[in-house]
Amino acid sequence: MDKKLYKYWSEEEFKKAKEFAANKQTPFLLIDPKRAAKKYKSLKANLPLAKIYYAMKANPHDEIIRTLADLGSNFDVASIFEIQNLMDLGISGDRMSFGNPAKKESDIIFAYQHGIRIFVTDSMDDIHKLAKNAPGAKVFFRLLFEGNGAVWPLSKKFGAHPDMLYKLILEAKNLGLEPYGISFHVGSQQKDIGQWDHALSLCKYMFDTMKAEGLELKAINLGGGLPTKYVGPIPSLKKYTDVINRLLSENFGDKMPEIMIEPGRYIAGDCGMIISEIILISKKSETSEHRWVYIDVGNFTGLCETEEVIFPIYADPEIYLPGQTSESEVILAGPTCDSSDIIYQNYKHKLPDELKEGDRLYVMSTGAYTYAYSAVCFNGFPVLKTYILR
Ligand SMILES: *Cc1c(COP(=O)(O)O)cnc(C)c1O
Repeated sequence: MDKKLYKYWSEEEFKKAKEFAANKQTPFLLIDPKRAAKKYKSLKANLPLAKIYYAMKANPHDEIIRTLADLGSNFDVASIFEIQNLMDLGISGDRMSFGNPAKKESDIIFAYQHGIRIFVTDSMDDIHKLAKNAPGAKVFFRLLFEGNGAVWPLSKKFGAHPDMLYKLILEAKNLGLEPYGISFHVGSQQKDIGQWDHALSLCKYMFDTMKAEGLELKAINLGGGLPTKYVGPIPSLKKYTDVINRLLSENFGDKMPEIMIEPGRYIAGDCGMIISEIILISKKSETSEHRWVYIDVGNFTGLCETEEVIFPIYADPEIYLPGQTSESEVILAGPTCDSSDIIYQNYKHKLPDELKEGDRLYVMSTGAYTYAYSAVCFNGFPVLKTYILR
């Protein structure tokens, strides 16, 4: 094993985390909100045009929300429960955008009553509900995107084609809503920067088309999709923001619209690590090539995006010394009795040959879409516990 773990958290950070975790029972997610703050600040610095709306579904932990709220973040919400969560933390509706195109009338009423005036839509049905229950609200129209190049595409569920958006925008206007802007989501963990190019030229097309109808759109919501570092390379944040900044100025020049962005994974991904313990190591036959390593966290307790997302997984680099430990490929499985609870079988992580039951494994970059996905008590295993590192 090399020192790769320290590419994710520095040696100093890791030692501090390990010490904090030493007497706590696994499995759990350890979160360092300072790391999320750092990501927020660098996005702000690299994309100064954009107002940031943290997509809280990535990690809705109070400490993450508070940290970002203190830095001035706004929030993308998808349900009345997320709204309530933010209200409970003293965050008002004028800092929220209701980004879910599928909502009940009662959700809209709740949101509007709590001061939310920005909604995202992609259907006639929803526009009628908005016109009735959120009069005068600013409405974003979501473009359909397939999510090519994304590790977690989100494809096809939300958004509509430009010709449909055109009709929706006119209808919204007729019904007294304020057609405000275009939104999109290029797919989560999007490694192909060209997808923003495509999206922004469609936005430009929509702006021009509506202008010809005498209707001026005012804003673009860039959605999510910025990546976090897992196994393998990703372009730097600056590569993304340079392209986005250039495309915005090429397409819109000195008539720059208001810009919003809704990062989730980018902000929360690398602020957390899951600490887990090995339950059992076995071989299926004398001749089989791979060891099966069963650990106390799995698909139902947070590691749900595997195998699309390849989380970096390490044994303790202070026990299994980098460069001095022989390693081989393993199959990693979770603790439940569901046969789908295999964490990595196609992707083979390499772990020390001397690895034994009771050793801890560190699953890095697990701050986003882990504990929020954790099931309640499947097979009796509790929801993934979370600790905050201070
Ligand atoms: C999930 C979601 C996001 C965040 O996406 P990431 O890829 O995690 O950045 C942003 N906007 C909307 C509307 C979403 O549903």
